[in-house]
Amino acid sequence: MPVSDHVNLEQFMEGVKKRNPGQTEFIQAVHEVSQDIFGFIEDKVQYHEAQILRRIAEPDRIVSFRVCWEDDNHNIRVQRGWRVQNNNAIGPYKGGIRFHPSVNESVLKFLAFEQTFKNSLTGLPMGGGKGGANFNPKGKSDAEVMRFCQSFMTELYRHIGPETDVPAGDIGVGGREIGYMFGQYKRITNRWEGVLTGKAIEYGGSQMRPEATGYGAVYFLQNMLKHQGMDVEGHTAVISGSGNVATHAAEKITQMGGKVLTLSDSGGFIHDPDGIDQEKIDWIKHLKNVKRGRISEYVDEFKGAEYHDGKRPWGIAADLALPCATQNELNEDEAKTLVSNGVKGVSEGANMPTTLEGVKVFHDAEILYGPGKAANAGGVAVSGLEMSQNSERISWNQERLGDMLTELMEGIHEKCTEYGSTKGGYVDYVKGANIAGFKKVADAMLAFGVV
Ligand code: NDP
Repeated sequence: MPVSDHVNLEQFMEGVKKRNPGQTEFIQAVHEVSQDIFGFIEDKVQYHEAQILRRIAEPDRIVSFRVCWEDDNHNIRVQRGWRVQNNNAIGPYKGGIRFHPSVNESVLKFLAFEQTFKNSLTGLPMGGGKGGANFNPKGKSDAEVMRFCQSFMTELYRHIGPETDVPAGDIGVGGREIGYMFGQYKRITNRWEGVLTGKAIEYGGSQMRPEATGYGAVYFLQNMLKHQGMDVEGHTAVISGSGNVATHAAEKITQMGGKVLTLSDSGGFIHDPDGIDQEKIDWIKHLKNVKRGRISEYVDEFKGAEYHDGKRPWGIAADLALPCATQNELNEDEAKTLVSNGVKGVSEGANMPTTLEGVKVFHDAEILYGPGKAANAGGVAVSGLEMSQNSERISWNQERLGDMLTELMEGIHEKCTEYGSTKGGYVDYVKGANIAGFKKVADAMLAFGVV
């Protein structure tokens, strides 16, 4: 069949919209990837005939379930939980669990779809999945979080396993939540196995896992800069978020000789012209992980800093920008502001933080722009290494894992340049990541025939 007889991008997207009504985040993610894949497969009949892209954009399975728990006042509370198993062509489903009131099926489908390409890019044998619940851990006691996690795992355990699906953390799910969920899995199944990653070192976690996503995003940025003869050292950076990814990105920028000017949370952002150094980052980690406070408290502790209530940090002039909070947190106007303020490189610690219009601004201005699926892949890559260590019942030291993370991020950067380099020397990292991620999954699916 001639290629011209197949649907074009517009017709394909019409179908996606019809089949997924109202799922804006999912449609946005599929659109972003499909733009590049359609160009790549134009003359590759085998992918068209096997409907590969359509199959990747239809999750293998979505499990949705009730999560019932009791709060400290003995009220019965009901939440909804999900696990989206998108694609396991190249390995067991793998992807985080998010607890946030904004979680819905569209958000998890977009994340599981993106994860499929990201995991492929790492070169490790991992498929794509994502899960979560519309539960808000903010303001809950430890006992409430524990009861919620236990109830969540009481249903989830039957859908996951070390060879089937291996969840990890994400927004609202850190070491505490992973501990409660792992404990419940073990209690129900009577098996100690590497079914979750992001565990603490004492019970099978990997060195470098907490740091991996944020550090990896900075390594990716460093690779992009080096490719153009530049460096992180001596440059200023604006960062959003103040969770796991943001604080570790800030730490690595500082270690490399850069100066971090901002961090944020959902309330607003702080701007510290003196730079947010290691001592200040440690204070923020304690504030967020132990005291579970708000970023606004920073200005009471560190003089010279300002808090901007209800605002995002993209108006502060800087050489580098790292969105590390959540999806769609950097829009077209904010991208234009960053460009007019002279930003040189953008590396996404979060998943899909820049809107499609914002990405276009970066591309049109030929700014170095590392999309989340490449730039933040260090987290899942070290999760993959945690799985290997659990399977072999061994543990590697920090130095070895640090070297492996550095190499993995270099490898991802190389794959992006292989498929994303343009004639003028500019690298379209979105295109490079999409095509490299797609090709491996697609070829595996072709090998399986129609299943
Ligand atoms: P955390 O829960 O540790 O931190 C999230 C941060 O983002 C907090 O500062 C939070 O503020 C802020 N935030 C959350 N929602 C919003 C919102 N709607 N508007 C503004 N700020 C918001 O999560 P992580 O650091 O783990 O994850 C951050 C991003 O990185 C997510 O996109 C995640 O998918 C992605 N990611 C994470 C990986 C990991 O290893 N953890 C791996 C790869 C990607 P507040 O405290 O006020 O809610």
